[in-house]
Amino acid sequence: ATPTALLTGTGRGAELGILIKGPQILESTRKVDTVVLDKTGTITTGEPVLTEVVTSTGLADEAALKAAASVEAGSEHPVARAIVDGARERGIDVSPITGFTNLPGQGARATIKDVEVTVGKADLFTEVPAELRAELDAGKGTTVLVGWDGTARAAITVADTPRASSRAAIARLRELGLTPYLLTGDNEHTARRVAEEVGIDPANVDAGVLPQDKFAHVKALQEQGKVVAMVGDGVNDAAALAQADLGMAMGTGTDVAAESADIVLMRPDVDTVADSIGLSRTTLQVIK
Ligand code: ADP
Ligand code: MG
Repeated sequence: ATPTALLTGTGRGAELGILIKGPQILESTRKVDTVVLDKTGTITTGEPVLTEVVTSTGLADEAALKAAASVEAGSEHPVARAIVDGARERGIDVSPITGFTNLPGQGARATIKDVEVTVGKADLFTEVPAELRAELDAGKGTTVLVGWDGTARAAITVADTPRASSRAAIARLRELGLTPYLLTGDNEHTARRVAEEVGIDPANVDAGVLPQDKFAHVKALQEQGKVVAMVGDGVNDAAALAQADLGMAMGTGTDVAAESADIVLMRPDVDTVADSIGLSRTTLQVIK
């Protein structure tokens, strides 16, 4: 391929809002046959809203939400932002906290008036009452638990909806002969519902994947002989973006993701993934 034509390709990319970090990248883009998409912030808007609070042991909804929002005020995670915003909209002030700990891919923890409060996945608790377990299994969105002394005392659900364009964009990927996969740290239930909404085969859904394990899933697909593009936005996607044959970061995401990627998508839209692959094919056709 001539460098000039490839440079023209990267220039056209810039017009489409696709930042390609070097002309040689267009060549690897062309060989991709599998596209692994992160869910939160990639397929979905990544801006979930608080939809439901369910408590056990007679705890008031406001008290549960106040405790959760106080802990989450220290976190950057989209789930945390939804809880903090939801509490503020309901006129609930946060309490002062000490000793905030972020638990990547799981939740967060902090101390409020000598009580260590945990917010996050069920695995963080030794006891989960049946009525809260039912909330987790209902699949209404991303449901996290709030509790202390090892016991979950409330379930808070936030719903993150797919971007309006995701379904059509994923259909376009398939038309280009690519197989879409969904890879997420979120639970199986929510992952499958989102996959169904956007038209990803349930067999190609990997849910409950910890941040440090995302890259291993990309590697496993490569070991099956697939040429993999990974699309993500978070710190938790960085290693997978680097492992993939082609890493694509949402420009609205974290800097770490953008640094680990070969292509940065300036428009937060899965459609730009199809644009990038289409562009590499037409550019290289011109060259031949
Ligand atoms: P994704 O892969 O979808 O971008 P993450 O790996 O960041 O998701 O998080 C996976 C899951 O861990 C979330 O769906 C949520 O259940 C839980 N989680 C992570 N961080 C937090 C937090 N700060 N507060 C509550 N739950 C969290
Ligand atoms: Mg994400």
